[in-house]
Parts: sequence; C-alpha cells; structure tokens
Amino acid sequence: MRIVSSIAEVKDAVAQWRTSGHTVALVPTMGYLHAGHESLMDAARAACGKVVVSVFVNPIQFGPNEDYDSYPRDLDHDAAICETHGVDLIFHPEVQEMYPEGFATYVSADALAETLCGASRPGHFRGVCTVVNKLFNIVQPNMAFFGQKDAQQLAIIKRMVRDLNMNVQVVGCPIVREEDGLAKSSRNTYLSTEERQAALVLSRAVKKGYAAVEAGERNAAKLKQLMSDVLSAEPLARIDYLEVVDGLTMQPIDTINESVLVAMAVYIGNTRLIDNFIFEE
Ligand code: AMP
Repeated sequence: MRIVSSIAEVKDAVAQWRTSGHTVALVPTMGYLHAGHESLMDAARAACGKVVVSVFVNPIQFGPNEDYDSYPRDLDHDAAICETHGVDLIFHPEVQEMYPEGFATYVSADALAETLCGASRPGHFRGVCTVVNKLFNIVQPNMAFFGQKDAQQLAIIKRMVRDLNMNVQVVGCPIVREEDGLAKSSRNTYLSTEERQAALVLSRAVKKGYAAVEAGERNAAKLKQLMSDVLSAEPLARIDYLEVVDGLTMQPIDTINESVLVAMAVYIGNTRLIDNFIFEE
C-alpha cells in the first residue's frame, strides 16, 4: 500500500493501473477511520481491482464556528486500517495541494442542498460537492463508495454525477452501528461517558420511527411527533432538525409514499450527531 500526498502521484499510479487493465474504486473519507469506513473499503475491494482511499479533512465544507480545527486526525491509525482492508493507495493531500492560491471554482447542488444538514450548515454541501468533484477528476474511479449514514450527501453526489454526466458509478452502503445502536462516527470521540450513553437516543428514535412506518404510519407529522417525543425524553439532547423528506429530492413530504428519508441531527452537549433511516415501499 502506498501513501501519497500529491495529485500527480495519484494520477501516475492510476494511469499505470489502467494500462494493466484494472478497474479503480474510490472511498472518500475525512480519516479517523472506523468500521463504517471499513465497510466501504470492503465493498470497494470486492468490486474493483484497485482501491484508493482519500483521507482529507476538507476545510471548505466546515462553517466558521464548526469543528475543522478539532476534527480528529491520525494518519498512522488510518494507514493500519487501510492496510488490513487491502487498500492499494491512500491519498492524503495538504490543504494547499487541493486549494492552491487563487482557487475559485465551486460546485453546488441547489434545492437538494438547502434542506436538512444544508439548512443547518450553509455552504456545507457546496464544499462536499467541490471536493468530491476534484477527487473524481484526480482518481477517475469506475466506482465510488459512500455511506447511507450521510444520506443527504449520498443523494446529492448521485445527483451531481447524473447532472454533470460524470463517468463514475456511485454506490451507497448501509449504516454501520456500534453494538448498542449508535451509528459509528469519527465525532463519537467527542462524547463524554455520560454523553455517549445519552447519544443512544438517536438510534432509539430511528428504531421507533422505522417500526411505526413498517406498521403502517403514513402521516409524516405524526411520525415526527413520535420520534421527537423519544428525543425530547433525553435531557442532554437538543434537536437540530428532524425531517421526513422525499428520498430523491430531499424536500419535506406530508405523506409517506414510495421512497422516504427520515433524517435527524441532534446535539448531545456540544457534539452534533446525525442518524436516519430510509423506507422504500
Ligand atoms: P467521513 O469520514 O465522516 O466524511 O465519512 C466518509 C464516508 O464514510 C462517507 O461516505 C460516510 O457516509 C461514510 N460513513 C461514515 N460513518 C459511517 C457509518 N457509520 N456507516 C456507514 N458509512 C459511514
């Protein structure tokens, strides 16, 4: 496995693989890898001849008062995990490599990026789309793997690929959870012991919501009430948003029909966590 920091080195490596007839998978990450990321690597490994993992905490997707500086970073730990999962190359660029002096071009996703996390984090998805677009251009992967944990991100990337006619197949992978239900996240490391316990309220709400929809609940307002009752029962939890949206357009819906995304962001103390479920009839 190689670890490279320049765009030129990635392009060289990929060009050589192409000459040998290999297909290439990309797994974009911000590092501090955990089992959620590992599931993406395993899916990538199973699907393509060569696997690239990018590890880059992308400054332009963080708002001014967000956790860019404190976001956990540990390349040695990440490299050990990638090695175990058969990754061929880690791309770990400096910010200057990705955004040199004079950088001026951005990709944004309009309406899809204005709800849910996009409403709470203005500019977030513009940063995500821009960096993913750059990574796609640098690696030119056949396939790219993203987690359903960031469901809106996945929907936006799929739309970007379609709208901009990009030659990459985007694959979504299921949410990986801790044994007690908490969705794996690099940000879980911010939680104190007490907060870690309180954070279980997210997956409890997801479970309750999913069960209600499965049992036939089709009224979005009633579903939200049911789930927000669960969340409000936890004193350390503060709801940022809880929404029922169409799974493709990310726009709020009143009645649950074919494809729905039920998504939430909840502060546990100062840590903002997300969770969701999709329901398809
Ligand atoms: P991040 O490093 O948090 O930007 O995440 C990189 C990729 O891993 C994204 O596609 C995430 O959706 C995915 N991911 C993060 N956490 C999980 C999880 N618990 N289960 C599945 N995928 C995840």
